[in-house]
Amino acid sequence: MTERYSRQILFSPIGEAGQKKFREKHVLLLGAGALGTGNAEALVRAGIGRLTIIDRDYVECSNLQRQQLYAEHDARERLPKAMAAKQRLMEVNSEVQVDAYVMDGIPAEVERLLGGVDLMIDATDNFDARMMMNDLAQKYQIPWIYGACVSSYGISYTILPGKTPCLNCLLDQVPIGGMTCDTAGIISPAVQMVVAHQTAEAMKILVEDWSALRQKLVSFDLWKNQHSAIGVSVMRNEACPSCGNNPTYPFLEYSQQMKTAVLCGRDSVQIRPSEKKVWNLEKVAKTLAKQQGEVEQNPYLVSFTKKDRRMVLFKDGRALIHGTKDITEAKTLYHRYFG
Ligand SMILES: [Zn+2]
Repeated sequence: MTERYSRQILFSPIGEAGQKKFREKHVLLLGAGALGTGNAEALVRAGIGRLTIIDRDYVECSNLQRQQLYAEHDARERLPKAMAAKQRLMEVNSEVQVDAYVMDGIPAEVERLLGGVDLMIDATDNFDARMMMNDLAQKYQIPWIYGACVSSYGISYTILPGKTPCLNCLLDQVPIGGMTCDTAGIISPAVQMVVAHQTAEAMKILVEDWSALRQKLVSFDLWKNQHSAIGVSVMRNEACPSCGNNPTYPFLEYSQQMKTAVLCGRDSVQIRPSEKKVWNLEKVAKTLAKQQGEVEQNPYLVSFTKKDRRMVLFKDGRALIHGTKDITEAKTLYHRYFG
């Protein structure tokens, strides 16, 4: 164990004491895409005690360019990202407890997993999920690290409840919006740079070296050779609905009402049924086999392709409808094929 982490222990701000702290800490990672796989690998190699990963998607070929834990066989088998990530992470470091959840991180479900969590890391790709995370962090007083990237641009900020402004405080004052879509494409160094910022801040929090935290919102563009760090500590808003004097946590309410979502840059719609039940995927696959179309199945999902539409049903009844951005059409297809 000492040999394994020897180079990190030699780094004096961590040392033996910091390494022991890593071992006792539990990090929750929301998202297992580009930022998620980078953060997960770094933290698991560093020897944290426990990592919880939540992701709603499965691996596709177009992910392999930047999502570092995945290989071609994961894409071929359409493995859920949380599961494929866990498999690879266990190969990297079997001493870490990795808990993987294939689900859409809605507030009630994420809330259930927050017990004993020391830190949350944002590896999501959309505004609603980030704002939900921001509210959960405030409600349960858990630090979290915001991160986003698109094309050659990236941004990151560390939020300590009760100490720094929250993401909601910053919304009107810094350019956080517009980072939700990957239609502009993305290059992997932008991902790695955000991951580096997030992981370094995570390490400081995990060893409780609070004074070392960056305290600034950083952003950069690796192609245009621009870097900036903005001091935002004065932007804390006492009337903020997330972190102010009378918080209402608006995004915990709002996200719960979302039943459909157009996934950005993917030409896909996600449908989450209002009632929860566990689906028998075998049975669904058998029924679909009688339709004209191609059926594929693994233990986590059933995929059904008909003409230029592909529908993927997960065990919890959630579905991704690919090939359309039209919510009405997606719902129609869902009801037609999955009931
Ligand atoms: Zn706030």
